[in-house]
Amino acid sequence: MSDEPILLTPGPLTTHPDTRRAMLRDWGSRDPAFIALTAELRQRLLAVANGAGRHVAVPLQGSGTFIVEAAIATLVGPGQKLLVLVNGAYGERMVGIAQRMGREVVALRWPEDRAVEPARLAEALRADPAITHVALVHCETTTGILNPLAEIAAVVAAAGRHLLLDAMSSFGALEIDLTAVPVAAVLASSNKCLEGVPGIGFALVAREALAAAAGNSPSTSLDLHAQWRGFEKDGQWRFTPPVQVVAALVEALRRLEAAGGPKARRARYQENFDTLWAGMRRLGFELYLDEAVQAPIIATFRMPAHRKLAFRPFYEALAARGFLIYPGKLTQGESFRIGCIGAIGRGDFERLLVAVAEVLEPA
Ligand SMILES: *Cc1c(COP(=O)(O)O)cnc(C)c1O
Repeated sequence: MSDEPILLTPGPLTTHPDTRRAMLRDWGSRDPAFIALTAELRQRLLAVANGAGRHVAVPLQGSGTFIVEAAIATLVGPGQKLLVLVNGAYGERMVGIAQRMGREVVALRWPEDRAVEPARLAEALRADPAITHVALVHCETTTGILNPLAEIAAVVAAAGRHLLLDAMSSFGALEIDLTAVPVAAVLASSNKCLEGVPGIGFALVAREALAAAAGNSPSTSLDLHAQWRGFEKDGQWRFTPPVQVVAALVEALRRLEAAGGPKARRARYQENFDTLWAGMRRLGFELYLDEAVQAPIIATFRMPAHRKLAFRPFYEALAARGFLIYPGKLTQGESFRIGCIGAIGRGDFERLLVAVAEVLEPA
């Protein structure tokens, strides 16, 4: 075993050595070899979601929030109106982004342990014909809850509105089939279920929606239409691309395909989650969410009441044993999160459980 820690976080996460190795060279950003790499990146991103027909892939420098901000700024035009479905911090962040961008925005809210409800959305869309776009967080990383994408997409399409999907913590593992589920824009980043390194966000956008969005964004760098036109014109990024991050992401996408695609990745993450939850239950921890709405991406646990263990010492004791966990993001109660994603498997979780048991019952 190496002395590098295992990251049990929602990203950046543990990556495969081949993915990191792909970063060990320099690329000229305007050289044909890098233009070809960018083309492969865009084509592979589309293929993950079966989007080659109606959608185009637009990568953007930055973390996931940058692509969310760029998508809202570009796709929700002045005079249009966004409805955000909120059951966690990332939904709330989209509301804030739309406000900062000066877009009209409203929210429907649910408690953090409840999935968003298609019937309530249908009612809200009937009541407000001014709403043009709906935003949904596929897997709310705040808790790890899975929202019902297919049902929400059907309601949005039936009402003739456009769906923006924050698929940041699901893309590459939880299936998104753009030929079957109507989504105007899927947003995700390099460093979650695709198992790349951080530095790129991307949008898969319906070509018509993007073509209609020229000049909408009040920002120069966060403009998906201009970014897309740049790629279409000469295959190049408009501004300095994170070349090593692109190389690592292409390698990670090749590895995803070779391993059997999102279906196989989901199965590995599900095995990770099942191993984790069975062991944590034996050790007396409670899962925050009902299992029926739990995605196999990240698990939120409550500290057992009788243990009186604060997060910080628990974190430090596990870090000393080579495992980095994640603080909770719940508004109430002592909790922590353990990510099930990354280039990790069952054996890593079995070793983690031994470490947790040692921390609870020092020899
Ligand atoms: C990670 C994440 C984001 C983006 O976060 P960054 O820190 O900017 O990468 C957005 N939405 C969800 C659901 C996420 O999990």
